[in-house]
Amino acid sequence: MANKEFQRMIVLGEWLEKYLNPDARVWEYRELLKDAITLFNIDFNLQDELSLKAVPLVCEQPSEVKDILSNPHIMGSLWDEVFDDNRPKPDLKKREEVEEFISNLEISKHQKAALWVVLRLVLIVDQEVDASAMLSILLKTQFSFVQYEVLDIFSFKWITNEVLKKINQKKELWSNTFKTGLDSKDSFTCFSFYEIYENSHSIFEAINITEEGAYKTMTFDSPTCEYTSLGDGYSLFPWGPVVSKILIDFLFLGGQDYYLFCEQCDRFAVIRRKGRKKFCSDLCRTTHGNELKMNKIR
Ligand SMILES: [Zn+2]
Repeated sequence: MANKEFQRMIVLGEWLEKYLNPDARVWEYRELLKDAITLFNIDFNLQDELSLKAVPLVCEQPSEVKDILSNPHIMGSLWDEVFDDNRPKPDLKKREEVEEFISNLEISKHQKAALWVVLRLVLIVDQEVDASAMLSILLKTQFSFVQYEVLDIFSFKWITNEVLKKINQKKELWSNTFKTGLDSKDSFTCFSFYEIYENSHSIFEAINITEEGAYKTMTFDSPTCEYTSLGDGYSLFPWGPVVSKILIDFLFLGGQDYYLFCEQCDRFAVIRRKGRKKFCSDLCRTTHGNELKMNKIR
């Protein structure tokens, strides 16, 4: 393989590795966003970017709450639970009443915490909303906008992980696994492959012509980038299309043979040499070895 293509594949893989790190910190998400802009020459204004506002809120939550917010399926059922059309819509005016309504929902305390995160994000998106009328927000599209668009930065981690794992488990060409995945009867599998497939169609190269000349840039046809109800000054980075493009490009450049899921910590890691490497780091290899020894002693 041409050296340049190999290098590109490794760079994309390393981006995925940082992105899929479950412990990624606030500043790392900002770096990932900037790196993606550079990788594809994306024309994007970072001013008041909304997904990065979600990151500190989500990162400060316990891992159980983070897991809920990152998993599109769990969020989907939580959504159905709270917004069940058959549920009578209470008329709540004070903040305390809203708090009471949420605390009385028959859901776990972690699900409630996740709901509060989404509510706080709604308030960031829509500052016009009076805090005392929060419940009415629950019924507005802003809530689903936050859930389905702003939190994409996290849900695509879950989706990408699923797709890469499935490809890794099946010992066949990734495109075959991809095709089977799209047709899968298992709705989780089908959903993940479909999201990547669909989103990879929303990002494409376009030409920009200015006084200085013509240059290529990336553009999107997903509503995400110019969400009309956002009001002036807000932008939302299209994580779905960008992550999908990075994943697809990585696979087309031969990435299938250059990654693993660590046998010790289960993390995605890029490897520069094909082989039987099983661990993401020396630390995981040593820990795994020590644990094996301990088990033998017992
Ligand atoms: Zn590891």
